[in-house]
Amino acid sequence: MIPTKGYAAQNATSPLTPFTFERRDPRADDITIEVDFCGICHSDIHTARSEWGPTAYPCVPGHEIVGRVVQVGKKVKRFKKGDLAGVGCFVDSCGKCSNCKKNEQQLCEKQTAFTYNSMELDGKTPTQGGYSRHITVKESYALKIKKGQPLSRIAPLLCAGITTYSPLKRYGVKKGHKVAVVGLGGLGHMAVKIAKAMGAEVTVFSTSPSKQPDAKKLGAKHFALSKDPASFEKRAGYFDLIINTVSSKHDLTPYLEVLKIDGTMVLVGAAPEPSEVSAFALIFGRKKLTGSLIGGIKETQEMLDYCAKKKIFADIELIPAVKINEAYERTLKSQVKYRFVIDAATY
Ligand code: NAP
Ligand code: ZN
Ligand code: ZN
Repeated sequence: MIPTKGYAAQNATSPLTPFTFERRDPRADDITIEVDFCGICHSDIHTARSEWGPTAYPCVPGHEIVGRVVQVGKKVKRFKKGDLAGVGCFVDSCGKCSNCKKNEQQLCEKQTAFTYNSMELDGKTPTQGGYSRHITVKESYALKIKKGQPLSRIAPLLCAGITTYSPLKRYGVKKGHKVAVVGLGGLGHMAVKIAKAMGAEVTVFSTSPSKQPDAKKLGAKHFALSKDPASFEKRAGYFDLIINTVSSKHDLTPYLEVLKIDGTMVLVGAAPEPSEVSAFALIFGRKKLTGSLIGGIKETQEMLDYCAKKKIFADIELIPAVKINEAYERTLKSQVKYRFVIDAATY
């Protein structure tokens, strides 16, 4: 076993604290990564605080992981010692069901082993995430990262990047499309950058007036204050696609009203509480309301290669591990610009 250290939540209400544990030695098809950076996703906070249902403690969150390969199993083909590697939101799946065969491992019909607060496929070993110095993972669930890029700014692509790239691509965003991004946090700022790179005209809906200059710098053409009803009235029937990244309960109906006929709103934000939706807001205009869960391994690799080619990186605040709890509080106050990333050398 490989001793490692990191930070864990011990219960739903206390701050995260330093935590020492072990990773498995690499099996034949595993690699062990020494983690350099790990992003802080709002899903980490939902989970650390049991907001999505009871969490199994201790829980080491983190699924935006980048680092260097330090050990390889005997049959590993894609990685060698010293290579850069990434790990996203899941570390295993059955590999045989129709969804796995379609490269949608995040939707495995049997079991997706998520990176933390989940079980390995043996059904008894809890998974622990990337707020830690090491992680051992099957090579086929690790991502290749090109050298020569700012590694700390790549980490958030492993969740925020793929979660927004996947629906933007699925709904065929291209030049001339009008895309709205709701909520300018970790996911939202990646959605703006990627939608802009795909050629869309991007509008940000935000509750934070202070984010207007940043929204423009990130690539948005328009900024709309979501607290002002006029922001919706003047854009009725305007958007082809809305990527909604909001992390808590809010009224969805005004957003349906700013969609074009046959337009789609994709919920990626995973508010713990359910929302009400007006049937009329969907019926008049054949609007579509749907969701999207991260992306499969193949699409995640495609997104990393796309972002490398287009030089799309996250805008981050790099923090030492002792600031994780402060970062959680600032994220909850929508004060993150635009992703906190932990420097794994500081555990
Ligand atoms: P984040 O950085 O905290 O960003 C969320 C943003 O939503 C905030 O910055 C804020 O932006 C806005 N917001 C927050 N509370 C709001 C409210 N009550 N009403 C309206 N707007 C509000 O979070 P994140 O890491 O981007 O994650 C966003 C959500 O996506 C979380 O629920 C997370 O669990 C989920 N998620 C889902 C997937 C998936 O696969 N579907 C993957 C990753 C994350 P403004 O200041 O601009 O209003
Ligand atoms: Zn995430
Ligand atoms: Zn499967």
